[in-house]
Amino acid sequence: MKALVKNRNSVQVVNTAAPKITREDDVLLQVALAGLCRTDIYAATGKLKVKDPLVLGHELAGVVEAVGPSVEGIKPGMRVTIDPVLRCRQCHRCKHDLSCTNSGFVGLDADGGFAEQAVVPAYAVLPLDDSLSFLHAAYCEPVAASLAVLKSGIAPAQKGAIIGKNRFSELLQLILDAYGFPTLPVFDLNDAVHKAELAALESQLDYVIETYASSAVLAAMSKAIKPGGTMVLKSRQYEPLQFRLIDFLKKEPVMHVVNYGDFPEALSLLVSGRIKIDNLIDDVYALSNFEKVFERAQDSEAKKPFFDPSL
Ligand SMILES: [Zn+2]
Ligand SMILES: [Zn+2]
Repeated sequence: MKALVKNRNSVQVVNTAAPKITREDDVLLQVALAGLCRTDIYAATGKLKVKDPLVLGHELAGVVEAVGPSVEGIKPGMRVTIDPVLRCRQCHRCKHDLSCTNSGFVGLDADGGFAEQAVVPAYAVLPLDDSLSFLHAAYCEPVAASLAVLKSGIAPAQKGAIIGKNRFSELLQLILDAYGFPTLPVFDLNDAVHKAELAALESQLDYVIETYASSAVLAAMSKAIKPGGTMVLKSRQYEPLQFRLIDFLKKEPVMHVVNYGDFPEALSLLVSGRIKIDNLIDDVYALSNFEKVFERAQDSEAKKPFFDPSL
């Protein structure tokens, strides 16, 4: 099969053996579409430590090709997407069906979806409503990641803001709209006017959500919140951040670092049309175009590109 493989310093489209069902609860998928994420770029450029060689990609939708002997409820021919978190299946939290703190990730620790076929454990597979397109289904992971901000306890009546203007902030706003939040101001700290506008809100906000964490963003968040306010850290920043605790101390902020919301809830938001993501979609490309697509994605995070591995 065709696959986009990262091996040490190289990323290439290669012809490789198709993955096989090895565990009894494995599911083999024919990938229809897979979205490109900031995390894939971090992995491709060596910023995130991943296994080598590795098929990148964790935002995928496709059709079940075959299932292992113990799989129930998932059958060949079913249209599905995945939750890319791979549980360790050994820790106390896994045994009690809680989120695993020792987890791996599809497309980082195991081969992913930038390939014609992929194998994932059955628990990671989410069947799709017939009305949901593969394109929207492959957007499920970013929607679930944005939904996570609601875990911080923020409420529509509170005064909030978003830092970082990109497709993540737009998606976040769509989701907050669906849950009755007002339209939040979005500040791009690289823009002098935005920076000044945010500075003028000093100590006025109940919460600030970031979509691209940096040391400067953390400092700006702590300035903008009221005493006891909430800093919602949403981005999967790999770089170490610096902050002086003493600068945060007087306000006694709550720092809420969030991972994922509920994947079925993310799917139902997409199926019901309560969030409309078409403006956040770039286009569908062949894997062979990956260099151009990766380069553009690094320049602009306005829209998400997708790969169709069959092209
Ligand atoms: Zn992603
Ligand atoms: Zn675990």
